[in-house]
Amino acid sequence: MSYDLVVIGTGPGGYVCAIRAAQLGLKTAVVEKRAAHGGTCLNVGCIPSKALLHASEAFEDASKHFADLGIDVGTPKLDLKKMMTFKQDGVDGNTKGVEFLLKKNGIDAYRGTGRLAGAGRVEVLSEDGANQMLETKNVVIATGSDVTRLPGVTIDERIVVSSTGALELETVPGKLLIIGAGVIGLELGSVWRRLGSEVTVVEYLDRILPGMDGEVGKQFQRILGKQGISFKLSSKVTGVEVKDGSASVTVEPAAGGEAEVLQADVVLVAIGRVPYTEGLGLETVGVQVDNKGRIQTDSHYATNVTGIYAIGDVIAGPMLAHKAEDEGVAVAELLAGQAGHVNYGVIPNVVYTFPEVASVGKTEEELKKDGIAYNAGKFPFTANGRAKVNHTTDGFVKILADAKSDRVLGVHIVGADAGNLIAEVAVAMEFGASAEDVARTCHAHPTLTEAVKEAALAVGKRAIHI
Ligand SMILES: Cc1cc2nc3c(=O)[nH]c(=O)nc-3n(C[C@H](O)[C@H](O)[C@H](O)COP(=O)(O)OP(=O)(O)OC[C@H]3O[C@@H](n4cnc5c(N)ncnc54)[C@H](O)[C@@H]3O)c2cc1C
Repeated sequence: MSYDLVVIGTGPGGYVCAIRAAQLGLKTAVVEKRAAHGGTCLNVGCIPSKALLHASEAFEDASKHFADLGIDVGTPKLDLKKMMTFKQDGVDGNTKGVEFLLKKNGIDAYRGTGRLAGAGRVEVLSEDGANQMLETKNVVIATGSDVTRLPGVTIDERIVVSSTGALELETVPGKLLIIGAGVIGLELGSVWRRLGSEVTVVEYLDRILPGMDGEVGKQFQRILGKQGISFKLSSKVTGVEVKDGSASVTVEPAAGGEAEVLQADVVLVAIGRVPYTEGLGLETVGVQVDNKGRIQTDSHYATNVTGIYAIGDVIAGPMLAHKAEDEGVAVAELLAGQAGHVNYGVIPNVVYTFPEVASVGKTEEELKKDGIAYNAGKFPFTANGRAKVNHTTDGFVKILADAKSDRVLGVHIVGADAGNLIAEVAVAMEFGASAEDVARTCHAHPTLTEAVKEAALAVGKRAIHI
């Protein structure tokens, strides 16, 4: 078979790239080795984790908050098996949706491991041994990422689990120890705490959510602490021993010192993800990777080998589904002779806990480091009418704007629905808006979005409700 484009991997980067390429008239095929399309995101990432976050939040609401609203449901009982079925329904619905979209766009889908077999050739290695060779003008590698392992710690997906195992536990662990206070650790920690686990998070750095705004990290840690999650910061796990169905975890201060041993029923290793290129045959054609194993590309996603491109988690940049999708669109448009482009300065980042955390653009730390003078406007949800009536007053909106031009440079939100609230400022930033532009835009009352408007007003020291 002969194609204009073969995409290897059908995660959010790969399948979106294939659809956009087909829309633009390129004869396109995808190769996927998983049983279902959708990659990490749909199968073992974004979608199942959000399903469990949604279900566990509803469980906690019914257990702790309904009574305040005058709703008496007694003591709700957890049916974990059913909750997992709910999660799987969501996954299946989404992966089938991708299969439908690929068909609808006339894209040929091959099941198997895609291997670069020389210039313009991709070999599909099927489990049943029926291999096929595809001829193609262009290849886009969208093979995504895999869990980062901790040296000396074996993941058995039962007692010592990765995020994949943590999405499939058959019982609620009494004690859950999480290694790593990043997004995945905190989201899955929230799920299991709500369902009844005692959760301890061990983090090497002296803060949670590394990379996000420092003030956000501090406030958010306080909020999660109030909810019952314990943190051991500036600490490193140096060993995990599994015996008789539970784990003994050795933890030492990061700077060195006396070790302690913590007991856990389940240990979640959530220290990040690494690019996945196994079996791809990069060496066969000489595609270069950097010192972190990421495929090296130029600003047009081209590798050093003519006709081979790469996008998503397997290249540099934030490991986020929407970043992968936008790169998929951009590379397809470039291949079709258009001017595809991704603005890396405006990629929202969301933590789907309760409250949510969302940010876009620069943090205060980054602005200080770059010597950029800025004004900060902050507005707490305690002063927002809708948050008050909903009893969701934890958190704030912070807008950072250039001191001279007033252009919005970064926005950081801790609060209910922060993941949706961030969208308006992302659009505003794409249009080069000033804080005053946001402040002068009429926002509906009563909504949480009014806190965004008030934070924009606060940049000019003229917030109304505080
Ligand atoms: C628990 C968890 C929660 C997450 N939550 C979010 C979230 O809420 N929001 C967000 O934006 N991001 C989230 N992410 C990150 C997100 O899943 C990734 O950024 C995204 O999936 C990357 O997309 P991708 O297309 O680059 O790769 P992937 O989604 O990893 O897809 C790559 C695909 O390529 C296939 N593949 C690999 N090698 C080959 C080969 N040689 N031949 C054929 N097929 C191959 C794989 O089987 C896989 O299906 C989460 C991740 C995890 C683990």
